[in-house]
Amino acid sequence: MHIAIYPGSFDPVTNGHIDIIARAATMTDRLIVGVAEDSSKAPLFSVEQRVAMLQEQIALIRKQNGSGQNGEATAEIEVAAFSGLLMHFAETQQAKMIFRGLRAVTDFDYEFQMTGMNRRLNPRIETVFLMASETNQFISSRMVKEIVGLGGDIGSFVPPSVKDALLAKFK
Ligand code: ADP
Repeated sequence: MHIAIYPGSFDPVTNGHIDIIARAATMTDRLIVGVAEDSSKAPLFSVEQRVAMLQEQIALIRKQNGSGQNGEATAEIEVAAFSGLLMHFAETQQAKMIFRGLRAVTDFDYEFQMTGMNRRLNPRIETVFLMASETNQFISSRMVKEIVGLGGDIGSFVPPSVKDALLAKFK
């Protein structure tokens, strides 16, 4: 059984993340979406809220299976919070692969460095990058939070329930 992890802060999950989850789920048997608990970024949503929002979106991906849209997400998809080193989490889950999404050049430097460090920590775990889809290239959780905080419309960046959760936070 091939196990992969898609790690991130997911604060909150965006359409960009959902696209990566759906695509990664066509490439492995089991996909664990790993929600980083102790992010240095001081998250807006608690880890429980971030996990719950992801679970809801994953249920929708499952529903879409068989609709002929995109590739078939064949993997079992689950969400798990983790703290500490990603490589330790990957080892405990017996994952062989880490998925990361890659947007424009700005992501590259950070991802390049992290992948290099992670490879030193465990050379048996490979990091695989999926390029952001054209429509999601510019979406980031950070910008979404900024825009909603300033009263902008975020309807094309996040799913409706995530939009509602964000609006509730900034009320
Ligand atoms: P982190 O805090 O680890 O960067 P994020 O939640 O911001 O976590 O992102 C998780 C992963 O998803 C990262 O690999 C990031 O590059 C990727 N990602 C974020 N937004 C998008 C997007 N719009 N399209 C594709 N990948 C994305």
